[in-house]
Amino acid sequence: MESVAEFRERARAWLDGRAPKRTAADTLTDTGAGREWGQGEFSVVVFHDASDADELALLDAYREWHREKVAAGFGAIHISPEFGGLGLTKAHDAAIKELELQYEVPRDHELISVTSKLIAPTIEEYGTPEQRAEWCRSFFQLEQFCCQLFSEPGAGSDLAGLSCKAVRDGDEWVLEGQKVWTSTARISQYGFAICRHDPDVPKHAGMTAFLVPLDAPGVEVRPIKQMSGGASFNEVFLSGVRVPDALRVGDVGAGWKVALTVLGHERATSGSGRRGGSFDDVVMLARHLDRADDPIVRQQLASVYTSGKVRDWTKARSAASAKATGSSGPGGSLGKLLWTQALTEISDVVSGLLGASLTADTGEWGTFGWNEHVLGAPGYRIAGGSDEIQRNIVGERVLGLPGEPRVDRDITFAELARQSRT
Ligand SMILES: Cc1cc2nc3c(=O)[nH]c(=O)nc-3n(C[C@H](O)[C@H](O)[C@H](O)COP(=O)(O)OP(=O)(O)OC[C@H]3O[C@@H](n4cnc5c(N)ncnc54)[C@H](O)[C@@H]3O)c2cc1C
Repeated sequence: MESVAEFRERARAWLDGRAPKRTAADTLTDTGAGREWGQGEFSVVVFHDASDADELALLDAYREWHREKVAAGFGAIHISPEFGGLGLTKAHDAAIKELELQYEVPRDHELISVTSKLIAPTIEEYGTPEQRAEWCRSFFQLEQFCCQLFSEPGAGSDLAGLSCKAVRDGDEWVLEGQKVWTSTARISQYGFAICRHDPDVPKHAGMTAFLVPLDAPGVEVRPIKQMSGGASFNEVFLSGVRVPDALRVGDVGAGWKVALTVLGHERATSGSGRRGGSFDDVVMLARHLDRADDPIVRQQLASVYTSGKVRDWTKARSAASAKATGSSGPGGSLGKLLWTQALTEISDVVSGLLGASLTADTGEWGTFGWNEHVLGAPGYRIAGGSDEIQRNIVGERVLGLPGEPRVDRDITFAELARQSRT
């Protein structure tokens, strides 16, 4: 197999001929060197505040770019050749992703990662040969998109407490219930849903996974407005939605195992792509405000830099261990926690630097725009498992601390539901 270093050099040569380099002001570096205040577009957005049409245009642009990369031998890098990929490693993939940040190429989108890095590999693992043939290529190659229908009003951290029903009717299942916080449901063709098919067994045992076409009769998607301005997530109501048994993923009753696989991929990929402001952006702001020599600010900048580095190395260690063991394990939780802590730390530092300019738009480049980071960052402390849940996982599975008391393990879901009503 070609070494990562050789692959990176070939990719760099191809990108040089294909796309303009971003200006110094836009280029991400570790040191902030070369960045200039006021140049280029200033965006530190965490969640887009865009219309559905604009979101779809972003996806189309990325899909075109993906196709071009595949044709040139620089796309679908770690995907199996069975699904049109190159079958190289995640390190090769990371190498070109890093390089792409230096060029004017279409930006990644959250739905691309959910579809191709969470759902597609889960179907690869649990799907039937027919499902793998039909969906893996389509999702890995971004031909169609799929969102995650997990959380419900009564089930988030305790996902196994979900109550959306799946009732078998011949060769079909009838789904009934409500999902919530479903990111990108308005622009996805499919949702990957975990539903309860059997309330008369303990809660972890009675769940099954389905691919749900979001244009099926009985599916209603309602946007939820966020404090950062956009409405990237939704409520999804399933009212008598019929899905063929051919769209069940994994065995009946394997829903919890399937859900954990999706969540494991989610933790392992959290923080990939560009979300929010970087260390460079903070340094540039401190320099512009003439605060970069202030001893307290210097200490804060050093801390932001160090946190970023610790996170990168933790991710690298976790990726190496995943390669060796075939599973991302609890290292993904540590990586996700470090990422959300870094986002929060950046929010704290820029809030201190900007003061009132963060809340009043004076039109000055690179100031008020930071509120997109400050108001968006808390979302990722909750999405994909909250900070507290990641800490529980790290405590139990990395540090070997005693587990949380789990008194509901041997009680049927129906009995639990009855007890919570009384
Ligand atoms: C930006 C964003 C995008 C999302 N996208 C999706 C999506 O696409 N699909 C989807 O299905 N869901 C999505 N979610 C939902 C997300 O997975 C849930 O919000 C999350 O799992 C927390 O569940 P909850 O909101 O019900 O909070 P709860 O579980 O009710 O938690 C409330 C608080 O209690 C704490 N807590 C709960 N249990 C424990 C415990 N055992 N120990 C310590 N503390 C605990 C939590 O950390 C939290 O602070 C998204 C959420 C956000 C914010």
